[in-house]
Amino acid sequence: MNVNRQNGLLRYDNEMQRILVQNNLYLLKKHAHLESTEILYAPIYYTQNQLDFFQKRFSELKKLFPTAQWSEHVEEQDFDVALSWDAIYEINAFGARIYPEQNRLFSSLPFDLPETFTPFRKLAEEILPDFYSGAVLPWDSEVADELNYYFREKKLPASYLDTRNELTGRDGSTKFSPYLSCGVLDVRHLYNEVRTFEENHGATKSSGWIVFELLWREYFYWHYQNHKRLYFSKKGLHGKTDFSPVPDYSINELRELTNEPFFHAALSELTTTGFLSNRARQIFASFWINDLNLDWRSGARLFEEQLIDYDVYSNFGNWMYLAGVGVDPRGQRYFNVKKQLETYDPQGSYLRTWQTN
Ligand SMILES: Cc1cc2nc3c(=O)[nH]c(=O)nc-3n(C[C@H](O)[C@H](O)[C@H](O)COP(=O)(O)OP(=O)(O)OC[C@H]3O[C@@H](n4cnc5c(N)ncnc54)[C@H](O)[C@@H]3O)c2cc1C
Repeated sequence: MNVNRQNGLLRYDNEMQRILVQNNLYLLKKHAHLESTEILYAPIYYTQNQLDFFQKRFSELKKLFPTAQWSEHVEEQDFDVALSWDAIYEINAFGARIYPEQNRLFSSLPFDLPETFTPFRKLAEEILPDFYSGAVLPWDSEVADELNYYFREKKLPASYLDTRNELTGRDGSTKFSPYLSCGVLDVRHLYNEVRTFEENHGATKSSGWIVFELLWREYFYWHYQNHKRLYFSKKGLHGKTDFSPVPDYSINELRELTNEPFFHAALSELTTTGFLSNRARQIFASFWINDLNLDWRSGARLFEEQLIDYDVYSNFGNWMYLAGVGVDPRGQRYFNVKKQLETYDPQGSYLRTWQTN
């Protein structure tokens, strides 16, 4: 079998024989018409939350490809193509065969990447289309239901800007990141949903802010392409490269490190759900780096092992940013936990929900 790349798309000369799908369902989704394909689904996971999440994706996959099989153990040589994340951190075993097509707004970057986000955003916004034709519709019914809920039932883009920093509750932010990261939600389709919402209900700063956040996701991906391994160096983009090993902490070890109630609550939410809001991630990472004085890379590893929306670019990019070794020209960011909770959890409901004792 020969696989050719043309115009950024994968073309199959002969019938596909066997595909190994790890966490990147995006490409498969684009080529879902290949019914004769034999698919082995072998997601990379560490926790029960991640396993549950991928098992749901697998049951959706089976509706399209009834012969798809779940596998815990795979051998590279058994496959024609292996689909995973395109990052050195994960892929050594299957590197040569991984097709790097990504779930991005731009399939290649139509301008030179500015080093910082703001000029990137300006350039990107100038060329974002009104609508992406060819965006893949979701075939995962849970994703379709969530899109329906967010955009049509509750019309939540109208309030997104006011609520996105909430620490608790389903509706504060979109909650689409897990689907984006494993590729069952095409980011271009999500973008189209925002624009359609704006056509029907009016464009506001609030609805536009969802696109703003999607551009952060986009930016970290392209920024990673420029810096690659520096994303895993202790000094990040600055100073001498340092790939010294970092300790992995167990959840119990972490609980022993501090009595800070927010840290305990966030650990509890993270391990129970595999998710934290963006604000909780920021406060947690700041506490990790500035108060516990731990290596930011250990924190990034913890998130990698726990999040159901783990995305190497967004995760390491955000951790680096908060550690002051990434793209933020302002240097190390400090979030005072007490002040943050006064602002974002004035009634104490986050701590009450997730307190452990
Ligand atoms: C330390 C740290 C680690 C993170 N690790 C990840 C990760 O592994 N995977 C991941 O998808 N996001 C990560 N983020 C970004 C962000 O926290 C999540 O994308 C967001 O909380 C997911 O919830 P949502 O879908 O409701 O986001 P929304 O607020 O609804 O945003 C819409 C979408 O925009 C993107 N987005 C939003 N904020 C960011 C951001 N700061 N950086 C990049 N993209 C963003 C996401 O794709 C998100 O789904 C991290 C942030 C921090 C501070």
